[in-house]
Amino acid sequence: MHRNPGEHEFHQAVREVLDSVAPALDKHPEYAQAKIIERICEPERQIIFRVPWEDDSGEVHINRGFRVEFNSALGPYKGGLRFHPSVYLGIVKFLGFEQLFKNALTGMPIGGGKGGSDFDPKGRSDREVMRFCQSFMTELYRHIGEYTDVPAGDIGVGGREIGYLFGQYKRITNRYESGVLTGKGLVYGGAQVRREATGYGAVFFADEMLRAAGDSIDGKRVVVSGSGNVAIYAIEKIHELGGVVVACSDSSGYVLDDKGIDVSVLKEVKEVQRERIGQYVRHRPHATFTPGNGLWREVPCAIAIPSATQNEIDAEDAAALVAGGCIAVVEGANMPTTPEAVRLFAEAGVRFAPGKAANAGGVAASALEMQQNASRDSWTFEYSEQRLHGIMRDIHARCYATAEEYGMPGNYVAGANIDGFRMVAEAMLAQGLI
Ligand code: NDP
Repeated sequence: MHRNPGEHEFHQAVREVLDSVAPALDKHPEYAQAKIIERICEPERQIIFRVPWEDDSGEVHINRGFRVEFNSALGPYKGGLRFHPSVYLGIVKFLGFEQLFKNALTGMPIGGGKGGSDFDPKGRSDREVMRFCQSFMTELYRHIGEYTDVPAGDIGVGGREIGYLFGQYKRITNRYESGVLTGKGLVYGGAQVRREATGYGAVFFADEMLRAAGDSIDGKRVVVSGSGNVAIYAIEKIHELGGVVVACSDSSGYVLDDKGIDVSVLKEVKEVQRERIGQYVRHRPHATFTPGNGLWREVPCAIAIPSATQNEIDAEDAAALVAGGCIAVVEGANMPTTPEAVRLFAEAGVRFAPGKAANAGGVAASALEMQQNASRDSWTFEYSEQRLHGIMRDIHARCYATAEEYGMPGNYVAGANIDGFRMVAEAMLAQGLI
């Protein structure tokens, strides 16, 4: 910790993994001998850069850009870019560290990385966002590439931003290198189901987890936090599988719609108009909007899918969820549950799917996008969704089996951490002291 002062989220993510992998270290003394833990916690490369840009009124702004290339033992660095005012090195490192094990769990040849900026796209015009993205890429381009590092989206970075970033990369390098970014638009090298993949994938994982316990999503009351890329498509898939999502949110508050969130209204408000979630009730007058962050304490549900941001469910929220009859928590976001809340869920027998496993569908679909780019191919929606479904089933099966192997049946946190860690550790050992 003294090597990385003040990086709280990174410390939290590392502690969570190290707590679970102790049994794997006991079984494999060669990992300690090769100092795998020390090496795995140190990113291979960290890049921090200045991003100057000009707003529509001509005022100059300076933001900070980051790319942390965590580990390339399994493949080129792969992970999203986050644009949010809270972004600093500790957040980017926590996300990069998580990404490494998540990517391993997909079984695909991708390493771990993450990046972003403290730029806040909220309220900015398209042209301002474009100028920011062009400035950001003017430094980033020299560090990335199809065989080196392949960024994608995350909070605040969706299809619009990826388009501007890709355009600038192409312009600077004079290369139409489709595989340098994922999450591209369908007309210029994007892949079907990438947009839907994280949300759909989390629900496929939830479905597998409930089936393994002899239960199902059908008829369940569900709450999903956030109303961005992950949340919208998690809601869509829950409804397809017979569950009812009654509430979702953004940083301004939450909406409650007991008839079930209308996904087409939600898309119109968030994807088309880029409005605040409160606008939802203008289209659905029976629904209510409550300002603030009381979602998890105030809306009981059987299944909770936190899909907004890190540490959004604390111990108090967890206690309220348990009291309200929650039977399963599925992390659509990265590390949305605090360690105390995870403990409370375990004590109460709530089934818990950690983000590294449950939200791996996004990066898996990104790897499928890279595969299509490399072969100049483009698959149908149905085939792509089938591939995603198969990958999520496999991830569930690996986590489940590893937890059993280590004598902790039903502990998906241990299963995911140990399985992901073992794969990275084996690849690092095989590649020598690098
Ligand atoms: P989006 O930017 O599309 O949506 C984020 C949503 O979460 C918005 O509704 C936003 O509200 C809300 N939110 C963000 N920060 C906060 C905050 N500090 N407090 C309250 N609400 C907040 O992002 P994504 O949907 O892409 O990402 C959501 C989560 O899923 C993140 O943890 C991300 O790392 C994770 N994830 C995303 C993947 C992807 O493919 N996109 C893949 C795997 C994980 P507001 O607009 O008001 O800020």
